[in-house]
Amino acid sequence: MPLSTRIFFAMTVASLFTAILVLVVPDLPGIGPPPKLDDALGWLTGAVTQPLFVGPFGLALVLYGWVKTRPLAQSRIRESHALTPLAAGLSRAQKLEATRTAFATLTPNADGLVLAELMVHAGVRVGASDIHLHPVADGATVVLRIDGALEPLGVVNAQQYGLLINRLKVLGRLAHYVTDRPQDGQFSLTTPDGDAEVRISLLPTQHGEKAVMRLAGLASKGPRLDDLNLPESVRLQLTRLLDKPQGLLFFTGPTGSGKTTSIYASVAHLQQHRGALAQIATIEDPIEFSLEGAAQTQVNRAAGLDFATGLRALLRQDPNVLVVGEIRDAETARIATQAALTGHLILTTVHADSSAGVFNRLLEMGVEPPVLASVSLGAFSQRLLRRLCPHCRRPEEPTGEQRLRLEEVGAAKTGYSSSDGCEQCGGTGVLGRVAVFEVLIMTDELREELKKAPNTQQLITLAASQGLVPLRVAALKRAQAGDVSLAEALRVSE
Ligand SMILES: [Zn+2]
Repeated sequence: MPLSTRIFFAMTVASLFTAILVLVVPDLPGIGPPPKLDDALGWLTGAVTQPLFVGPFGLALVLYGWVKTRPLAQSRIRESHALTPLAAGLSRAQKLEATRTAFATLTPNADGLVLAELMVHAGVRVGASDIHLHPVADGATVVLRIDGALEPLGVVNAQQYGLLINRLKVLGRLAHYVTDRPQDGQFSLTTPDGDAEVRISLLPTQHGEKAVMRLAGLASKGPRLDDLNLPESVRLQLTRLLDKPQGLLFFTGPTGSGKTTSIYASVAHLQQHRGALAQIATIEDPIEFSLEGAAQTQVNRAAGLDFATGLRALLRQDPNVLVVGEIRDAETARIATQAALTGHLILTTVHADSSAGVFNRLLEMGVEPPVLASVSLGAFSQRLLRRLCPHCRRPEEPTGEQRLRLEEVGAAKTGYSSSDGCEQCGGTGVLGRVAVFEVLIMTDELREELKKAPNTQQLITLAASQGLVPLRVAALKRAQAGDVSLAEALRVSE
């Protein structure tokens, strides 16, 4: 039972106790003599309005209201539950190894509370983006996602897993009795290695509830364009579009392709270049970074706040720049295009398999072709690839099969790199990630074509003649530059 409910019940019981007390004890100060049976009801009415009764009950109500409405308190990890500090100068792989050992030593005696804190601390320490808890028959495995790759952290037994899930539900303010449907919540935790804003999602499986915790460092600065390591041509195309006073700018790619990061970096660029003129408002699900100076709103479907209603409300606040987390329904699409027609710059994501595919999705959602043609500025399709470790990178010849694939796309067959792994990358051969982009910039010709509601292939063909570089070609360019391996680049074209 949450603390607030416990306090409320305790105070209510105290009030009732007081009421009973004044019924049986004669001459209680301020109440008067005990009642005669015939006017007991009238007396009781009098009694409950007395300070002795109203006092505790009123206090309980006020306390309950305060506890319910106060902002989510930041819990601080207890000193004794934290992982011991690591020596300075360790590589990430060494940190992961040390964290794994510490986790294995500490878990056998840990309860749910300690486990939850240990796990978040471990995730923050090694820079994980997500913590996955996979329930299995006799417990659960804990896996961290670091730079897109899954790395096991350790295991917990079945009893501990039950306690852990309960603890996570308390932290995330979720209903602990619900085990048969998905739940989402969030909490923040201060660890010795940094602050974590944790979004937790629970999903029922055959072995119990599976939990995924997404770690977002709200305390850290959001991404900047410089951090994205964009090719100069893409950077120029993006900043030119961001200079436009109005229109729609789309980002697409599968989950985890970094499109949200691109949007945050774009907003940071706008803030820097437009200063106070950039009145920025967002409707997001979830808010992954806090943007200083921007009004960010979190979608809350339970409270009836979806992208469409949120967007409508934001427009009444008269922003210049709007971020819409995702356009996936006709209503949001209609409001967004209208807003883009009336002087707003809108950055958004759309689920599509290519930059040109974005426009077909919007046509399917019922946006009129001429409207779409006039408001669209461009579309960025992107993927995140694992970056080759620069410390152990070496030249590599393509294999026979790779040569065939390179021939198919007409790319060069030499000049690629690979890596075997070293101390710096923990033997993995990769370190961090790079984003590759396919950029479709709206030209007059493309606008004319879009008015005819073309299919995606027609649009791609025309865009290619206007200078669009397909995603797989962009990826191969990265491979030629030695940023990623050939195998990683070829994965994009699959
Ligand atoms: Zn290396």
